[in-house]
Amino acid sequence: MTDANLSDVFAAIESREQEYLERLIDYVRRPSISAHGEGIGEVAEYIAGVLDGIGLETQVIQTAGWPMVFAEHCKKPGAPTVLLYGHYDVQPPDPLDAWISPPFEPTVRDGRLYARGVGDNKGQHFAQILGVEALLAVRGELPCNVKVLLEGEEEIGSPRMPDFVREHRDLLAADLVITSDGPVDESGRSTLNFGVRGIISFELRARGANRDLHSGNWGGVAPNPIWTLVQLLATMKNARGEVTIDGFYDAVLLLSELEQQALAALPVDVDAVKASLDLSELDQPGERGYFERLSAWPTFTINGLHGGYGGPGSKKVLQHEEGAKCDMRLVEAQTEEDIFAKVEVHVGKHAPEVEFVRLGSMDPSKTPIDSRWAEPIRRGIVAAQGEDPLLVPALGGSLPDYVFTKTLGLPAFGVPYANADESNHAPNENLEIARFYAGIRTGAAMLTEIGKMDASG
Ligand SMILES: [Zn+2]
Repeated sequence: MTDANLSDVFAAIESREQEYLERLIDYVRRPSISAHGEGIGEVAEYIAGVLDGIGLETQVIQTAGWPMVFAEHCKKPGAPTVLLYGHYDVQPPDPLDAWISPPFEPTVRDGRLYARGVGDNKGQHFAQILGVEALLAVRGELPCNVKVLLEGEEEIGSPRMPDFVREHRDLLAADLVITSDGPVDESGRSTLNFGVRGIISFELRARGANRDLHSGNWGGVAPNPIWTLVQLLATMKNARGEVTIDGFYDAVLLLSELEQQALAALPVDVDAVKASLDLSELDQPGERGYFERLSAWPTFTINGLHGGYGGPGSKKVLQHEEGAKCDMRLVEAQTEEDIFAKVEVHVGKHAPEVEFVRLGSMDPSKTPIDSRWAEPIRRGIVAAQGEDPLLVPALGGSLPDYVFTKTLGLPAFGVPYANADESNHAPNENLEIARFYAGIRTGAAMLTEIGKMDASG
């Protein structure tokens, strides 16, 4: 914490740590469960009140679902504008009896604050907000323009975000987007994330006769839909692990030199991973690197194959209906629409009697690793945390970041603050309090570094 140009802000933050913790406790003790709506409206108003209280122009915007909270402090014409995104809703806390302390009675144990939503995502965007507050308190102004968007439906899949962003382009206009959500690296090192994989989910449904049949009386007469599906699935991916649907890989962007270097620098002990999973081998193709598998390649997973008899002993039945639920994780520059269409064409060609049902989708998102905004963000993280972040070209999972990179055309960055064992979505969710304070410093430092840049690239 030796950065001379931020020492006044860091000192102010340090002197108020206890107060910040108490305010975080007051935030996370309020349920805001998007799955069934408990507390959502109250918490939207609460966090809007916080943003208003520190001097941001704030509005709660109603949608067909739970409200969006938007705030801005744009008083630096010509300076860059940062859009900070987060979500004020939380996962349901069940199972309650697995919590050591109740999910909405925030409790400090061993340097961590335990509460539902403390890591995912209240503690993280609250740290960003407090970073803004600290800058305003110490300097009387912000180094750049700041907008804040907090949604209330992230934990139910952000169903309103695509339309909301499309309909509020001017309100959300910015130079870049920063999201603080998710955990840092397993090693404890901070990460700077540039992308996420996309996803499509679908079901394949095969039908034979109009009812289950005796496999002796009808076997050889009535078709067996389980075989239909197994054979169809076998035309979609080979034993080398390659998806064999025409054109599936056409849009896949190969990793750039810089991305390959970043992946190579990510720490992982593959033998320890295999041991922890009781695996002797990773999935095919065998020659890919660990993070290359997660960042650079699409997948095709059969999530479940349903139908037929699975009970004790045997049952000589010829099942009449069978379904396979599947997902595909997509990478840049595949699109959900194009891959859906290609899978549908493939199914129509190889098993036209099989029904193809779309179940949901999200495009992938990637910001170039050499984006001009990556460097000021990196400098901010170093100034606040004293260590370079790991650079992650794309996470294996899926988030609706494409609304920023594709709908708004903005570079989008992930700067997670939570410990790797935050237990998000699980009982005993927690946030290391030192990481919360580091997040406040990081928020202030990133904005300061971004403020030194020209708005137009
Ligand atoms: Zn979550």
